[in-house]
Amino acid sequence: MRRDRERDQCRSARVDPGSDRFPPGLFDAVLLDRDGTLVEDVPYNGDPEKVRPVPGAREALDRLRTAGLRLAVVTNQSGLARGLFTHDELRRVNARVEELLGPFDAWQICPHGERDGCGCRKPAPGLVRAAARALGTSPTRCVMVGDIGADMEAAAAAGAAGIMVPTPATRPAEVAAAPTVVEDLPAAVARILDQIGLVCPPASHGRRGTVLVVRSDAAGDVLVTGPGIRAVAAGADRVVLLCGPRGRAAADLLPGIDEIIEWPLPWIDGDPAPVDPDDMHHLTTRLTRIGADEAVIFTSFHQSPLPLALLLRMAGVPRISAISDDYPGALLDVRHRVPVGVPEPERALSLAAAAGFPLAPDDEPGLRLRDDRLPAAPAGPGEPGYVVLHPGSSVETRACPPELATRIVRVLHAAGYRVVVTGGPDERELTARVAAAGGIDLGGRTGLGELAAIIARAGALVVGNTGPAHLAAALGVPVVSLFAPTVPFGQWGPYRVPTVRLGDAGAPCRDTRATRCPVSGHPCLSAVEPGRVLAALRLLGVPADAPAGPEAVVAGPPREPAVTATGGVAR
Ligand SMILES: [Zn+2]
Repeated sequence: MRRDRERDQCRSARVDPGSDRFPPGLFDAVLLDRDGTLVEDVPYNGDPEKVRPVPGAREALDRLRTAGLRLAVVTNQSGLARGLFTHDELRRVNARVEELLGPFDAWQICPHGERDGCGCRKPAPGLVRAAARALGTSPTRCVMVGDIGADMEAAAAAGAAGIMVPTPATRPAEVAAAPTVVEDLPAAVARILDQIGLVCPPASHGRRGTVLVVRSDAAGDVLVTGPGIRAVAAGADRVVLLCGPRGRAAADLLPGIDEIIEWPLPWIDGDPAPVDPDDMHHLTTRLTRIGADEAVIFTSFHQSPLPLALLLRMAGVPRISAISDDYPGALLDVRHRVPVGVPEPERALSLAAAAGFPLAPDDEPGLRLRDDRLPAAPAGPGEPGYVVLHPGSSVETRACPPELATRIVRVLHAAGYRVVVTGGPDERELTARVAAAGGIDLGGRTGLGELAAIIARAGALVVGNTGPAHLAAALGVPVVSLFAPTVPFGQWGPYRVPTVRLGDAGAPCRDTRATRCPVSGHPCLSAVEPGRVLAALRLLGVPADAPAGPEAVVAGPPREPAVTATGGVAR
């Protein structure tokens, strides 16, 4: 681990003595599972003498304490419900854990059994929420470290980040589904401190002026770059965004942008037009007219910023920052490197920080939209609280299989949920077919802005790995993510929003970045049982409109919305 980074993050993350306020950073708190994560797992242990910390635990936890992070233990102890140990024995075991590992700022313990149906037993999010509350922060500013899938699911369902430290007993499917996996507790701590350090600026920038920011590609890509763009905007007089036609509608919704230039870049598109020298000449002229003092080129990990950097040099831009593993020669002034697997919004924030633009102290690293740019939602779905199902995607592998979408609508409808099916103008046939199973069809009736307005009033969004998932994240609407593992979930999953991930994370298409499913039958998603979506909604605390049963049929003309949709929905 890089020591210089650690010094930086210690500086930025340390809490002032006597102050209850955290300085801005990625995380305020680290939540830790007890058995198998902090101490060796001794099933139903009621004996303090049997407490054995995992190797390096004390030193690792002290690094977190020194960095100003608060620590909580978040643990299921069903042995209480089963009568396998007493409250007093549990207290003595936990006291021994603190004696060996140092003090924790909070303990959250679920005493219930598996069949009690409580809201606290992991994978339910109750303990994670309670821990965040006890530590004076929110779940989205917490990262959970645990050794099994239930730890990761509880964290995600609360909107917290998750890092898995698997043991030999951890099931392979749970390891595959985890957003981040490292080998042990010290490695998890190093990872957390590195992630915090990545978004801390190396030095204060102090420069203003006009900054050109660039993010080509689709709506989702532009949305996850939002935090990075806001960071630049916090330190610039004027921000001009260069984006492609597929990202334009998303760019219109982002805060911090003063002007947008829409221009396709042939080296970014998956299905590129040939390079037209005249077009490149016109683009260079247009870029020259901006008179930018500097440029920050945001990319995803498989894209090169260098062709555009060359055009920007020709347009006279004096300072250019980008992430590039390829040698940039004279094309970049700040050549930034980021490890693989960092969430895309943090990757963008880290480039902005490297360029000298930290996020404003009162801003949060999450995704955000401009409230004033959200149009009225189309009439049809009725009052807030419905579930939106968005089955399509511009990339086939990342969509919800139509047959599965249809079954999901049927099951949710029968359980008393109002389901709104959305899709673009070219997906009308798909949404009509899916909605026929008991949903309200809004296919073709929403641009990206209207779709955001619809999602803003939803109890949850059920969606593949596609742009609307990031709209929901920006609006704080919980996501049931049917996530094909073609790209890493930890990098592209819904960011800092309560989420349940479904689908086979270990399917053969994993990490292939395939746009067409390489396996017949699309098994990573088509094997999902619709009942899992229902369970996910319940885990997320999204209530149905009506009790299940024949009376609950939602038929006839939908009611008009009671409120005009510009966000601000009660949840
Ligand atoms: Zn419980």
